[in-house]
Amino acid sequence: MVSIPDDVSFREGLSRPLSVYIHVPFCRSKCPYCAFNSSVPSGDQVELYLSSLSRESELWRSFTGKKPSVRTIYVGGGTPSVLSVGQWETLFELISRSFDLGDLEEFSVEANPESLTCDHLALWRDRGVTRVSVGVQSLDDGELKWLGRLHGVERAIWAVQSCLAAGFEVSADLMFGLAGQSVRKWHRSLSALVDLGPHHLSLYQLTIEPQSFWGKVPPTQALDGYGHYRWAQWYLPRKGYLQYEIASFAKEGRWSRHNMAYWTGGEVLGLGPGAWGYLGGLRYENHRDLGDYSQALNDSVALDYTERVQGAAKGSERAILALRTSFGLDLDRFAEDFGQDLYRRLEGCLAGFPSSCIERNGPVVRLTPKGMRIANALWEALLWGDEDER
Ligand code: SF4
Repeated sequence: MVSIPDDVSFREGLSRPLSVYIHVPFCRSKCPYCAFNSSVPSGDQVELYLSSLSRESELWRSFTGKKPSVRTIYVGGGTPSVLSVGQWETLFELISRSFDLGDLEEFSVEANPESLTCDHLALWRDRGVTRVSVGVQSLDDGELKWLGRLHGVERAIWAVQSCLAAGFEVSADLMFGLAGQSVRKWHRSLSALVDLGPHHLSLYQLTIEPQSFWGKVPPTQALDGYGHYRWAQWYLPRKGYLQYEIASFAKEGRWSRHNMAYWTGGEVLGLGPGAWGYLGGLRYENHRDLGDYSQALNDSVALDYTERVQGAAKGSERAILALRTSFGLDLDRFAEDFGQDLYRRLEGCLAGFPSSCIERNGPVVRLTPKGMRIANALWEALLWGDEDER
C-alpha cells in the first residue's frame, strides 16, 4: 500500500463523487503572454509523461482500494490535441483502468485549432468524450498573429464547425483587450463566433503573466478590456447565451459541470505535472517539472505542496467562488456551515459593496452584471486568512 500524507482527508475526498482534471503540459509553441505549465515536447518526454500519468492514477486507485467513481473529467493544458491519436489511446486506457466511469456526466477535452484533426474527433466520440473546448482566441488574423498563435481564422472556424458536426457540446475561448482591438472589432469576432453556434463561450481579458515572455518584455499596445466585457454582457444574452460565471456564457443548461465542481467546492483529483487538486478539504499541487514529477512517483503520488483550507479562509473561498457564478451564495447555508461569527463578518462585507453590484433573492445573494465587471475589486474585502478569525 502506498503512503500518502493526510491519508484520511484524501481517502474521504476520493470516496465522494469526483471530478478529475488531467494536465497535458505540452504545446506546439509557447505563446508570449502564457505562464501555464506547458512547453514544446522534445525527445521521449511525451512517453515519459504518459507512463508517469499511468503510475500516478494507479497509485491513487490503489490507495483507495477500489476505482474512485468519477462524475466529470477534464483534460486540459497546455494543448491536449498535440497528443497523437495513439497517445490518446494510451490516455483513455489509463483512465478506464483507474476510474469507475459508470456515473460519468461530462468528459471535456481542450483542443487548439492547429493541432486538432478529424482522427482526434473520431476517437474522442468513440471513447465517450462529450465536450470539446476550442482555443479560438480571436476571429481576426491580425490579432491571432499578434498573440503568437499558430492558427488563423479559417482554421479556427474549421475546428469549431468540425466539433459541432461530430456531435460534441462545444465551448470556445475568446480574448479581449488585444492590441488595436476596438469594441467594434471585438464585436466582429464575437458575432462571427456566435454565428457558428457553439454551446458555450469563455471570454478572457488578455493577462500577461509575470513569468511569461511578455512579463519580461511587455508589449506596448494591450488595452483595458472593460468596454469589451461590458459589450459582451449586453450582446450575448440577446443571442441566447446566459452569463453563469464571470468569464462564462452558455446556452440554457450547457454550463460546464466540471468547472461548477471548482466553484462549488467539489472534490477534484488533479493528475499530471503542476496539476492542482482539492480532496477532503486539502488543496495540493503536483511537481511542475516533468522530471521532478516523474521522479517523485517512484515513492508516492507527486505532491509538491499541500494546504488545509479551513476556518475563515474556507469561508472566504466559499463566498468568493459562489459569487463568481450567477447561482450565487446561499447565506442561510453559509451560516449553517461556518457559524454566526463568520456569517456576520460576511454580511458586514456585503453591506460595504455598492448596491448596484449585488442583488438578493430570499437567502441568496449574487453579483449583478456590474458586480461581475468589478469583481476583482470586490474580492479584496472577502479575502480572509486563517489567522484573522474574529
Ligand atoms: S496560451 Fe495555451 S497554447 Fe499558448 S502556450 Fe499557453 S497553454 Fe499553450
